[in-house]
Amino acid sequence: MIHWRTLQKDNFRDWKALAQFLEIDPSKVVPSPFFPLNMPRRLAEKVEKGRLEDPILRQFLPTFEEEKIVEGFSRDPVSDRSFQKTPRLLQKYPGRALLICTSACVMHCRFCFRQNYPYEGTNDFEEELSLIAQDPSLIEVILSGGDPLSLSDERLKDLIEGLEKIPHIKLLRFHTRFPIGIPERITEAFVNILKTSRLQTVFILHTNHPRELDGDVFGALQKIPGTLLSQTVLIKGVNDSLETLKELFLTLSCQGIIPYYLHQLDRVKQASHFEVPIAEGLELIQKLRGCLPGYAVPTYVQEIPFENAKSIIT
Ligand code: SF4
Repeated sequence: MIHWRTLQKDNFRDWKALAQFLEIDPSKVVPSPFFPLNMPRRLAEKVEKGRLEDPILRQFLPTFEEEKIVEGFSRDPVSDRSFQKTPRLLQKYPGRALLICTSACVMHCRFCFRQNYPYEGTNDFEEELSLIAQDPSLIEVILSGGDPLSLSDERLKDLIEGLEKIPHIKLLRFHTRFPIGIPERITEAFVNILKTSRLQTVFILHTNHPRELDGDVFGALQKIPGTLLSQTVLIKGVNDSLETLKELFLTLSCQGIIPYYLHQLDRVKQASHFEVPIAEGLELIQKLRGCLPGYAVPTYVQEIPFENAKSIIT
């Protein structure tokens, strides 16, 4: 099998090459220097040629819409910086701490709320582990980023072994989009690290459209021990229709992955064109309740800075 790092090198990072591959007009693409194009080849292969509005492409292609300045959209919409214990350790909610493991991602999603995050830190997590150890109220560590699966298996193993030594930590949560971009990232070595860990794994797949999913993605996910959940951002022009969301949540549920959250878009600068009004989101959720089993309908939430949990939209 080809190593996932090798596959990652084949991601589209050059917008001219992507425009040529997808047969789209290059004048519609903006070479975004601050948050450059980064799209895995397997996702580009799922895009309908010549179609700028393709829901997969729309998530990754920098366009002129990003240049719109809209009031209420900011560089740090969830106030990440206010919750920093260190540049890589955030604590927003009781009992949980979030580790920004890396700045690297398998793909660059244009709506990402952390696209302006001031990533920094040393090569190890000593300071963060020490702070987690000093706080017995913590029960869960959330590995985020960037994408935590951008770390090598060796670095993940060291980090997880460090967390295992802290008796009050019981749960280890991953938030990742890697399996939809490069499912080969779920290596035997990674799966073994989880299987032999005393920590309970909670694995949250971030997925926004049913066409992101396929047999390779599910084949990889089914190797993961522990709880499998999904999280979706409600995005205009990508998944803001009953048919798309129904297919997405049903497909996930049929594979044993419980749709956990449907997220209202975080109001990050450059992403205003992706916002779906809350009233429309609520209507979609109500309609989903009418056609899917209760467990297949995620909770509709938004992050409001300084609340002590995600806020449920009702
Ligand atoms: S952190 Fe997640 S949402 Fe943001 S660019 Fe990376 S993969 Fe996309």
